[in-house]
Amino acid sequence: MMEIERIPCRTDNYVWLVHEPASGAVAVVDPADAEPVEARLATRGLRLTHILNTHHHGDHVGGNLALKARWKCTIVGPRADAARIPGIDVEVGDGDTYVLGKASAKVFDVPGHTRGHIAYWFSGAGALFCGDTLFALGCGRLFEGTPAQMWHSLGKLRALPDETQVYCAHEYTQSNARFAVSLEPGHAALGARAREIDAARARGEATVPSALGLEKRTNPFLRADDPALAAAMGMEGAAPEAVFAAVRAAKDRF
Ligand code: ZN
Ligand code: FE
Repeated sequence: MMEIERIPCRTDNYVWLVHEPASGAVAVVDPADAEPVEARLATRGLRLTHILNTHHHGDHVGGNLALKARWKCTIVGPRADAARIPGIDVEVGDGDTYVLGKASAKVFDVPGHTRGHIAYWFSGAGALFCGDTLFALGCGRLFEGTPAQMWHSLGKLRALPDETQVYCAHEYTQSNARFAVSLEPGHAALGARAREIDAARARGEATVPSALGLEKRTNPFLRADDPALAAAMGMEGAAPEAVFAAVRAAKDRF
C-alpha cells in the first residue's frame, strides 16, 4: 500500500509525498522548496529517504540540495538530463524500473517540455507522476522539444490504464478547462467536467490528481488523433502531430 499526499508549494505547484509504510520509504516528487516538505515531514513524523525528480526546472528541483543535506536522501532523476538535476545520485530512463521500498515504478522518457523529462508510473498503486508533461486538461509548454516529440511522449502516458491517477505538478486545471471548452464548446463530457472544476475551485479544492480515463476523453492534448478535435480545429484529415501543434500553439496564445 502506497500513501500519497499533496504538499502545495509556491503559487500553483504540487509536491507529492509518497509513503510506503511496509518498508519505511518516504519520497517526495519534485520538491519545489524544502520548507513546506520539512513542515509536512515534521507533522507526519516521517523521515525522507528519496527525492524523485521529473525534470530540471527550478520549481521541481529547488528543494533538492537542502533536503539532501538534512536527510542524506537518494535523489533519482532523468539520465538524459543528469547534469541539470542538483544532487542526483541515481539516473533513470525509458524502460527502467525504479524500486522504492516494496513498490516499483516504470520510467518513461517524455521529452517535449524539457529535453530530459521523465515520468514515473507506479503500476501497483495506479499512480503516474508526470511533472509538467501531462496536466489535468492540459500539457506542458514546449520549452525544449517539438510538438511531434511531445505528442509521442503523451502517447506513452495515454497507453496506461484508464484508472491510473495522474499526479501532475501544477494546479492549472481551471484555465486549461477554459481553453479546452473554447475549442469544443459542444463537447458534453468536457463541459460537464469544466463545471465540476469551477465548483471545486470555488470551494478551494484541488483538482489533481485526475483519472487518466477522463483525460483520454476530455483533454485536447491527448486527442490530436480524434477526428472531432481535428474538425473543431478546421483540420479534417490532418496528421495528429499537426493537430497537436495547432492546439499547443493556440493554447500558447490563449
Ligand atoms: Zn517545468
Ligand atoms: Fe513546473
